[in-house]
Amino acid sequence: MKKLENVREFMRRDRVFDFVDKGYNPLKGYGHALSKGDVDVSHGMILYVENVSVSFDGFKALNDLNLYIKDGELRCIIGPNGAGKTTMMDVITGKTRPDEGRVFFGQNIDLTRMNETQVAEVGIGRKFQKPTIFPEHSVFQNLELAIKMDKRAVVSVRAKLSQSQLQRIDEVLELIGLPDQRQLAAKLLSHGQKQWLEIGMLLMSDPRLLLVDEPVAGMTHQEMDRTAKLLNELAGTRSVVVVEHDMDFVRSIASTVTVLHEGSVLAEGTMDQVQNNDKVKEVYLGS
Ligand code: ADP
Ligand code: MG
Repeated sequence: MKKLENVREFMRRDRVFDFVDKGYNPLKGYGHALSKGDVDVSHGMILYVENVSVSFDGFKALNDLNLYIKDGELRCIIGPNGAGKTTMMDVITGKTRPDEGRVFFGQNIDLTRMNETQVAEVGIGRKFQKPTIFPEHSVFQNLELAIKMDKRAVVSVRAKLSQSQLQRIDEVLELIGLPDQRQLAAKLLSHGQKQWLEIGMLLMSDPRLLLVDEPVAGMTHQEMDRTAKLLNELAGTRSVVVVEHDMDFVRSIASTVTVLHEGSVLAEGTMDQVQNNDKVKEVYLGS
């Protein structure tokens, strides 16, 4: 078992290293003294989005966007419909190629050269709005399947989980607040619990950066509070970027807020600073 894990680890690192090696950084060149596959956060930044523009039929969905996320930070992104929030997520995750600009994971990994699978493999997890869980399977089985679907794992669907994998499932069950529901079919969970389960599934592959699109849509107030706590707990050891409409929720998260408008950053700061910003009042908060 140990041997198999070693092999898996080797293959994982080997594959990641492959991208990093090709990931030429125009600012720094190839020469980095890093271990294989490591994202270089020596400048304290996990994500660089610089001068990024994306056009759809001549319409600029992103217009010279600049965004920097610190390693371990929890950042909220708000902005009116059509501001470019989802397009920004698409660019970071390799779904949409920018027409211009640079997108780097740490100092060394050029995300604009990768497809969605490769971006996931270097350690960026994305949670879409609609939860994609397996309704007929138990909570435990959903987390188990998340391990087995992880492209980096060389594990057959029928293989038994290792001790460390079982332990990881227990840890994640605690973190997402579902230890008592482990044997429950996922379809029987509340809407909020389903969202947490999906976050748990993303956590199984231990992403360094988690992108979450509108996590609290349709949640009860209690579930919103629990989600704010969960996202705060996830930050620190990893970075979390949350796109959200709900102002009360963003306020309760108490992190740095970035306001997007017409594909660029309009303002950045605490929720109070942002809400008192005249430009923001004008275009977004309407007061
Ligand atoms: P947000 O998530 O902030 O609501 P989006 O990133 O979804 O904004 O969209 C930004 C703008 O780009 C919108 O005007 C939208 O209509 C447009 N847009 C997004 N994706 C496409 C696409 N694939 N083709 C054409 N226009 C698009
Ligand atoms: Mg959107």
